[in-house]
Amino acid sequence: MIGRRGCTNKKIKTKITSFVFLTVLVFSLCFIPGMAAETDSSELMAQVFAAAESNLGNIGPENTLIITDLGSPAESYVFLDNFYSEFNGRNLKYTDNLLVVQNARNAPLWFAFFDKASGKCAYIEVTYGDEEKISYQVTENINFNGLSKNKKSIEAWNQKVNSAVFKGHEFAILTISNAWATGNLDYELMQCLEIHNHFCPGVSSGFVLANWMEENYPLKEGVSYTVFSCPNWCKEDVFVKRWDATPGKGGIFVSALTDEEIEAIGNSPAGIFVVTDKNAGTMKAVALGFDFDVVNAKCGAKKDDPAWISKYLADLWLMDRGNWDEEGLVTEIAVIDIDKDTLGEMKRAGSNPYEVLGLLNSNGNVNPPVEDKELMDQVFSAAEAELGTLGPENTFIMTDIGSPAESDFFLNNFYSEFYGKELKYTKNLLVVQNARNAPLWFAFFDKASGKCAYIEVTYENEDKISYQATENINFNELSASQESIAAWSEKVNSKIFNGREFAILTISNAWATGNLDYELMQCLEIHNHFCPGVSSGFVLANWMEENYPLEEGVSYTVFSTPHWCKDDVFVKRWDATPGKGGVFVSELTDEELEAIGSDLAGVFVVRDKNAGTLKAVVLGYNSDLASANCGAKESDPDWVSKYMKDLWLMNPENWDGLVTEIAVIDIDDAALNEMKQADTNPYVVIGLLNLVEDVSPQNLESTEAVTA
Ligand SMILES: [Zn+2]
Ligand SMILES: [Zn+2]
Repeated sequence: MIGRRGCTNKKIKTKITSFVFLTVLVFSLCFIPGMAAETDSSELMAQVFAAAESNLGNIGPENTLIITDLGSPAESYVFLDNFYSEFNGRNLKYTDNLLVVQNARNAPLWFAFFDKASGKCAYIEVTYGDEEKISYQVTENINFNGLSKNKKSIEAWNQKVNSAVFKGHEFAILTISNAWATGNLDYELMQCLEIHNHFCPGVSSGFVLANWMEENYPLKEGVSYTVFSCPNWCKEDVFVKRWDATPGKGGIFVSALTDEEIEAIGNSPAGIFVVTDKNAGTMKAVALGFDFDVVNAKCGAKKDDPAWISKYLADLWLMDRGNWDEEGLVTEIAVIDIDKDTLGEMKRAGSNPYEVLGLLNSNGNVNPPVEDKELMDQVFSAAEAELGTLGPENTFIMTDIGSPAESDFFLNNFYSEFYGKELKYTKNLLVVQNARNAPLWFAFFDKASGKCAYIEVTYENEDKISYQATENINFNELSASQESIAAWSEKVNSKIFNGREFAILTISNAWATGNLDYELMQCLEIHNHFCPGVSSGFVLANWMEENYPLEEGVSYTVFSTPHWCKDDVFVKRWDATPGKGGVFVSELTDEELEAIGSDLAGVFVVRDKNAGTLKAVVLGYNSDLASANCGAKESDPDWVSKYMKDLWLMNPENWDGLVTEIAVIDIDDAALNEMKQADTNPYVVIGLLNLVEDVSPQNLESTEAVTA
């Protein structure tokens, strides 16, 4: 506002009705000191505009684009007010007629005035400090069509580029000016050029990628991006500008990749965009590829074109949003659910974010995750090919995913597929524990048809389905007749589900009844099959909780002696893990069993901190009851009789009389400690078993505490 033009106008407007004398006096007093302080810089900008106008004619809003680095060179900001004064004085518009590009602090201060009508561009450099003056100026016609018209015109401009006619800014000025002249240069892209300070296919690719992200992972309230611009090329500046993803705010992490890594990842990797959605509580790593081959093939550039032609043609092609859907231009390499720790690891120096995500292994081999995503896709697709669409009504999936070595790798993709079908964790899934060296398998059961698709995969060298079989496993049908029983028994013998026939059949059918207690299902996660043994553990656990409630201050220590499948229920339900000293397991001889009682199930030591008591509760379990009442026949194969027992035991109304309280004995910590020792039998310690003889009379006395 201290500009000459501004000052004059203001004074005339405000003082026009005052006394002429006074007006002149005040004006002069104001103007003269103002001149002294500001005249030099004011004159410099005036000089610049005047020089441009002498070469291009009047500078007006219709045809003018001014590109300048004003503000970036050291202390060049002092000219800003005067610059805008000149600029506004010609009715030029900020978004229509100006691009202020960022530059180095030690760069010269320059201006390029482009006149669209003539194609002419006046390039002006100034010096300031001791003396303020135009230090260099040149005017050239930079109309792209004219320059690229023929060999001669191309050669002529090549020479001018080589001689740095615009002091090295030939490419930037040519491309930006011509793109602007088309009228199709998106202003939001121009904003990115402010920071990038030239217009190249690289920055264009950043603009395409940014738009792709915003379309596919909208920046809604609570959503933010963290960019891993790896490998890096000009595109980064778009993210920095458009998303405020500055390095200082941790918005962008930039690193390079070797050619081998790029090759290994495949799909021309451009970067990883981590989308954090606070509302949904999700964090997704979206790896995108951008293929310049597609651009180069389509933009019309010829092989022998100089860079200023081929790059500008690529820019022009990329400016057309109609081209953004071109097959292969942008590729979604992988979408991987991650957590904060993974994100933190991706950021770390020395860690390759693609490697962290499993998209690249350290040998630079082919990217497993893309394959992995495909593997889970394959598995679900294979299941759907067999069973039809998987939906929450009829689908039950059993799998040991997570247990086999490094199968955890597939978990995110598995759940991505799972939740993509609107399946529910407790309603449609049982992830069973398995050995680290077990194969990774999936059983998809369809309740409506009774069909089950069993799928095994390999993922060591190649990710693929290695085995697949679909069978009807509806229990009622399989057990309907001798023939059907024999047919399935044969399939069990031939291991149609690779040895998991019993587990899959029993759990799937029990689930299908709708009466399988989810807390029992949780125990099957660890036990990984459903048998009368695990059912008895569930009955015993419930009995204990009913009779010796797990109130505040109460805890159990289990002596699962003799042991059978039941133990896993205690481990799961009471967190009575061996590691935490919750369960001690040992075996008894038939003679010992005979001496105490053949139904013996174990000793449950109940510590009540509040009451200060320690009781050893000895329980028996009568498995004959289930056998007698479940409806199984003697001739039935195991898979029939065991499942029928399971079914019968699933009904809590049948639990009466199954559990017997053999003894309740008050003990002390020393006794408890002794019970735990390897060289002691807990029943001997509590006096229920004599090492040599049968139960002694004294010991029987202690059973007085038995409850009815
Ligand atoms: Zn660039
Ligand atoms: Zn079992």
